[in-house]
Amino acid sequence: MTDRKELEKDFTKNGVNFARAESFSRLTTIGTGGGADIIARPQNVIEFIKAAEISQKHGERTLFLGGGSNVLASDDGFRGVVVSTRGVSEIYVERENGGNVFVRAFAGVTLGALSSFCVREGIGGAEFLSGIPGTVGGAAVMNAGCFGNSVKDVLESVFVLNDGKMELFSAEECSLGYRSSAFQTNKCVVVSVLFKLKRTFAERIVKKIAIYTALRSDQPKGKSMGSVFRNGAFPAGKVIEACGLKGMRVGGAFVSEKHANFIINDGTASSADVRDLIRTVKTIVKERTGVTLEEEIKYVGEFK
Ligand SMILES: Cc1cc2nc3c(=O)[nH]c(=O)nc-3n(C[C@H](O)[C@H](O)[C@H](O)COP(=O)(O)OP(=O)(O)OC[C@H]3O[C@@H](n4cnc5c(N)ncnc54)[C@H](O)[C@@H]3O)c2cc1C
Repeated sequence: MTDRKELEKDFTKNGVNFARAESFSRLTTIGTGGGADIIARPQNVIEFIKAAEISQKHGERTLFLGGGSNVLASDDGFRGVVVSTRGVSEIYVERENGGNVFVRAFAGVTLGALSSFCVREGIGGAEFLSGIPGTVGGAAVMNAGCFGNSVKDVLESVFVLNDGKMELFSAEECSLGYRSSAFQTNKCVVVSVLFKLKRTFAERIVKKIAIYTALRSDQPKGKSMGSVFRNGAFPAGKVIEACGLKGMRVGGAFVSEKHANFIINDGTASSADVRDLIRTVKTIVKERTGVTLEEEIKYVGEFK
């Protein structure tokens, strides 16, 4: 067990805001989960790097969290330090040539803020990301995408923190695949992403965003993590629906009637409810169809 008092002193000395025992129900879009021992809230990239260094120096398990829109945290919480990237939200045009515009966005920039920036600056290509409720860091880690596009299509390079050292990863080195990236396996921290976008007219961008927003309008409402399972040969939602599992419920968690790959918290769910429902859906789908569903979401903390 590390000396938490010394850790907290180090955070204070370096100007890093932190809080104790903050609940994951407030840090995640599904709105469930217990407390994080300590959550650090760096407000710029220097503090972000410091927070990571300090946590590592004190031998703490460290979790980097963006929008919390793709995670299910245990009801027992997380023993260690959560570093929230949300305050690390600088964004600017780094360079421009031959119609290409290279936008540097730090880990905590929300995809909504990236879209607003692109509209304001007349930069096209990232419109498809506008409705995803995550951050740039989380989107790079997950290679987030929709409507036939993913981060891979617009990513030029990434600055990562790798064992305390800042490194530049080319797009190729990021190994972006279907909801996967090198960052999920080698535990690098995404500090900033350089997007390769195009100079275009603001009206055109607004129009595209409106189309994508309309396409999302029948997406289930309520507290969720978006799609729970990865799509395989068939869309996971269709397979779950075919098994008649829409509306299936465990405690306060239920399979959406609108889109069977979404699990919704009715406001009373625990993470154990969500996890049990995921397990039950997987078991029934396997029995009835032979398909092994695999989670897209990430688990945080210990689950029984
Ligand atoms: C309503 C809804 C709709 C959604 N629609 C889509 C969709 O259309 N397409 C899609 O792909 N996803 C979708 N999602 C899922 C989710 O929004 C994306 O996966 C998003 O990119 C996650 O970003 P985040 O910042 O919330 O990441 P988080 O949930 O905070 O984190 C996800 C993972 O990345 C890690 N991580 C986060 N930031 C960093 C960092 N800087 N460095 C290292 N690791 C980090 C976390 O530890 C965790 O393992 C949806 C979710 C919801 C709730």
